[in-house]
Amino acid sequence: MDMAAQKICLSDFTLPGLTEYMKSIGQPAFRAKQIFKWIHQKLVTDFSAMTDQPKSLISQLEKDCTIAAPAIRRRQQSKDGTVKYLLQLADGNCIETVLMRYHYGNTVCVSTQVGCAMGCRFCASTQAGRVRDLTPGEIASEIYTAQKDTGERVSHVVLMGIGEPLHNFDNVMDFLTLISCPEGLNIGMRNISLSTCGLVPGIDKLAQRHLQLTLSVSLHAPDNATRSSMMPVNDAFPLEKLIPACRRYQKETGRRISFEYSMVKGVNDSPQKARELAELIKGMGAHVNLIPINPVDGSPYSATDEANVRRFQKMLEELGVNATVRRRLGTDISAACGQLRREDARQQKQQTSDLQGERTDAP
Ligand code: SAH
Repeated sequence: MDMAAQKICLSDFTLPGLTEYMKSIGQPAFRAKQIFKWIHQKLVTDFSAMTDQPKSLISQLEKDCTIAAPAIRRRQQSKDGTVKYLLQLADGNCIETVLMRYHYGNTVCVSTQVGCAMGCRFCASTQAGRVRDLTPGEIASEIYTAQKDTGERVSHVVLMGIGEPLHNFDNVMDFLTLISCPEGLNIGMRNISLSTCGLVPGIDKLAQRHLQLTLSVSLHAPDNATRSSMMPVNDAFPLEKLIPACRRYQKETGRRISFEYSMVKGVNDSPQKARELAELIKGMGAHVNLIPINPVDGSPYSATDEANVRRFQKMLEELGVNATVRRRLGTDISAACGQLRREDARQQKQQTSDLQGERTDAP
């Protein structure tokens, strides 16, 4: 039996959860708080570094527990300062994390699942499906790894990496607690954006939490035929369900939603689509983020050219919709999320088949 797999991962616990666990092994609450701070504030991944803990407790924790500490398998740095990491988790699975430098601070884009089940036709992260959910501590460790690697404070977080955050709801909620609590990095909810492909029950559930984060909805098309052709999730939650859910969300939380709109040449970028989009979301005061699609291998889509993106933006503005063209960072380093992980998996496969080839060829 694999004993390592049975170890308890302490970085997955929120402070109340850790307090409970420490109590169960006969330790007082203040120890839980100290250890929580070591993990989530001082970003230590070694029990032996917890210098205010008794030696006996350290040995016990080393024997029974772990802390999520992914290995940096690959690191690419763009000319604009963007750093992209391929992180390897304890079980060998890989995910991607990106650190972007903006004038207002460093933003980390985190993955929430290994792979994704949503099947969007333009997205590299979903082509091989979903392998598993990430735990709260694993998601937090993406930020911790980037912060330690760069030696720079992370002030903003976007849940826009690999995976669908609302398809891993409970772990994502605990992750948000970990990074926003005062005993952790204390990242303000207003500095956090969560992006969803539009899982309506998840949006309603999230609304009930009344968080001050920004909800981003990946809309990408103003009509069901186009949206379903791009995103299978639209068959389950078509626009007549999704848009009212967005309106409910705004009403319940008092927070404006932002819509992502990836522009695909000849699919969703005509003046007609701009008019339909404006009609669809009018009166919401929502913000639209336009971004030319990042073409991935095996996808039939190509990007709308810059000038047409601008034209589309101008039309939206004229129709009373607030729209910006998102600045693209890190385009010189493996582009859209999911590509690095897929590339790596492919190389692994190639190496394995090379090895197998050698073996068969051997006398
Ligand atoms: N699952 C969530 C979050 C991860 S994807 C969601 O769907 O929102 C983050 C954003 O990147 C989404 O808006 C997604 O539609 C977009 N995206 C994915 N692949 C893309 C590509 N190749 N080009 C442009 N945007 C892409």
